[in-house]
Amino acid sequence: MDKKDVARILNEIATLLELKDENPFKIRAYTNAARALEASDIDLTEKTTVEELTRIKGIGSHIAERIKILMDSGTLPLYEELKSTIPPGLVEMLKIPTLGPKKIKYLYDNLGITNVGELEYACIENRLVDLPHFGKKTQENILKGIEAIKKYKEQFLYASVIDGALEVWEKIKNFKYVIRSSIAGSLRRKKEIVKDIDIVASTDESLKVMDFFTSLKEAEEVIAKGDTKSSIRLSSGINVDIRTVTDEQFPYALHHFTGSKEHNIAMRTMAIKDNIKINEYGLFKDDKLIKCYSEEDIYNFFSMQYIPPELRENFGEIEAARNNTLPELIEEKDISGIFHIHTNFSDGNMSIKQCCEELIKMGFEYAGISEHSKTAQYAGGLKEEQIELYFEEIDRLNRQYENQSFKIFKGIESDILLDGSLDYPNEILEKFDFVIVAIHSSFNLSEEEMTKRIIKAIENPYTTMLAHPTGRLLLARDPYKVDIIKIINAAAENNVDLELNASPFRLDLDWRVCKYAKEKGVKIFINPDAHSIQNLYEYKFGVNIARKGWLEKEDVGNTLSLKEMEEYLKNKKMERLKKVSK
Ligand SMILES: [Zn+2]
Ligand SMILES: [Zn+2]
Repeated sequence: MDKKDVARILNEIATLLELKDENPFKIRAYTNAARALEASDIDLTEKTTVEELTRIKGIGSHIAERIKILMDSGTLPLYEELKSTIPPGLVEMLKIPTLGPKKIKYLYDNLGITNVGELEYACIENRLVDLPHFGKKTQENILKGIEAIKKYKEQFLYASVIDGALEVWEKIKNFKYVIRSSIAGSLRRKKEIVKDIDIVASTDESLKVMDFFTSLKEAEEVIAKGDTKSSIRLSSGINVDIRTVTDEQFPYALHHFTGSKEHNIAMRTMAIKDNIKINEYGLFKDDKLIKCYSEEDIYNFFSMQYIPPELRENFGEIEAARNNTLPELIEEKDISGIFHIHTNFSDGNMSIKQCCEELIKMGFEYAGISEHSKTAQYAGGLKEEQIELYFEEIDRLNRQYENQSFKIFKGIESDILLDGSLDYPNEILEKFDFVIVAIHSSFNLSEEEMTKRIIKAIENPYTTMLAHPTGRLLLARDPYKVDIIKIINAAAENNVDLELNASPFRLDLDWRVCKYAKEKGVKIFINPDAHSIQNLYEYKFGVNIARKGWLEKEDVGNTLSLKEMEEYLKNKKMERLKKVSK
């Protein structure tokens, strides 16, 4: 430990004290001491005495003693204690302009927000609007601030970079010296999180393409410029890498740079058995190029079906493509209606009517509105006495929509309480067309307890589906500890559906387990968990993930037509009541 380390810890202590809303004089004592120590010419070692330290202007005896303890033992009880009581994410939140420690502490105490990602999600769900000393403007400023600090982090949500990527690609595609081009990499595979954007382009004039690419107005910074490879940074903070090849090489390069690495390795291993070499420049038999014009040709050469980029994760796709058993992946147009919607009856910012008019415009046949339940007070959850009003409004609108063949289903997102029970008594649960159950609190159970708690909710005869099964917030909050396989098994046994939450912050169910759920015959609902008109469109991100998870139209609940959905929910309810009466 040297002078710099000690100064850093003193500063950190000051920050942590600030977040605890401690006496400002005490806080200043630590920041002053840190500054004084750094500015002094003292050679700080274990031999340095408290007395020598107090001779530095700005360091009092109290802090001098603490520095001594730090030097002797490498740690400090006060520091350790502060670190253990304050989530590290709160410190990061201090980087958000306009957000001081008082406000951070308030958000932590009242909304349980522990990091920037959770805060961003809370803003998007409008949680800050009605808080004292916050409001709409503050919420907007915080969101802007978060945007700014996210810029230079190295991971990005698919949804936050796809538009920028398409804009750049559009320009490359239309550049006169580019013959063919495509987005490649994890973005093309529609991964939920990406690190950079890859573009592959074929040309006979590579240098001209490089000049064009690096002088795009979207390039906030040119990271590297070469003859066939360049890299720029966009204002969102993500890098775009371009590679140019000859048009003859294009399909092989596109396949190679689309990945995944695991898929490529599996392809290469398979090819070697046929004595074929495969790399970004081509397919070779005895160093002779096997001509392919497209990726389709490459797969064809090995007598395989074309593997859509989303499936290239070495999850069994190579075998399936060889056996002609690849799934016929679900498409956006297969979705017939949207479930899991919050309106201004709880914490959404649209009325039921506004929401339904938008859905009708989007060509959908039904809406499954599901307000929060009474325990979710932070989200304006419905008290028992509000439910009648809620139903009346839905009935009134349903009468209006009758001849437009659009229908609203009455639902609720019921909190799963700590013991696994639901939020309302049975006679209320019975009134809903569907009941979504979800965990919104007490995340910190052991895996065993959490799994038991959720399974109990799944076994509740009133449960229709389980929302966001792992509770993760991408790049912000890890999934709670839960045995997802057991959850899927329980869903299968109890005829309960699982949600694939399509919010780009969640994308939960994970695609890595969708295939298992499908094999178990569990129906998946692609739900945007919408709180605004704009959120309604996010079902598309869920479709991407469903495709990565091998799901077909018939695996997804909300591809049913209105007539079929009415039947489906009615039958489920009947089954349910049978179970209750048993
Ligand atoms: Zn929820
Ligand atoms: Zn929700």
